[in-house]
Amino acid sequence: MKRIKYYSSNRNEVLEISDIHGNIIKSTTYTQGNCLVDLLFDDKCIKINPHLKAKITCLLNVCNDYLKNNIQVMIEEEFAFAFEQSFTCRYEFIENKLCRVLYTENIETLLWYLIISIYETKTMYKKCSNCNKYFATKYQRAKYCNRIACINGRTCREVGVTKTK
Ligand SMILES: [Zn+2]
Repeated sequence: MKRIKYYSSNRNEVLEISDIHGNIIKSTTYTQGNCLVDLLFDDKCIKINPHLKAKITCLLNVCNDYLKNNIQVMIEEEFAFAFEQSFTCRYEFIENKLCRVLYTENIETLLWYLIISIYETKTMYKKCSNCNKYFATKYQRAKYCNRIACINGRTCREVGVTKTK
C-alpha cells in the first residue's frame, strides 16, 4: 500500500508517493496541468490501466480547442464516474501557502481528481511542436511546452522561439 499526496501551488503541481513506512519513493513537481499527461505517458514507475489510459487520451485529443469543443459536456458524458468519487483532501500550509492536499492510496482516484480539475479550470492540452508530448496551456495559440528540451537546459519554448526566427 502506497500513500499518494497531491497538491497544486504557485502554478505547479506536486506529487509525492511514499511507501507504508512513510519513506518518500517519488516526489515530482509539474507545471500546472502537466501532472496528468506526464503520469500517463512519461512515467516509468506508475502503471495505469491501459483501458483508462486510452479513454483519457481520447479526451486529451479534443481538449485542444475550447472555442470548438465543449470539454465540460464531454467530461460529464464520458467521465460521469469521476463526479461520484469521494476525495479525501486536507488543507495544509505548505511553504506558508494554504493548499488543498489530496490524499489517496489509489492512482486512479488521482486521475479522476485531475479530470475534474480540467473541468473546473478548462485547461487545454496541445501537442508540443518540438517534443511531441502533450502539455497543458491556457492559450489557444500555444505551440511549445516548457519542458527541458536539450542538454544545455533550454526548454521547448525557447528552442521554438529560435526556430521561428
Ligand atoms: Zn515540448
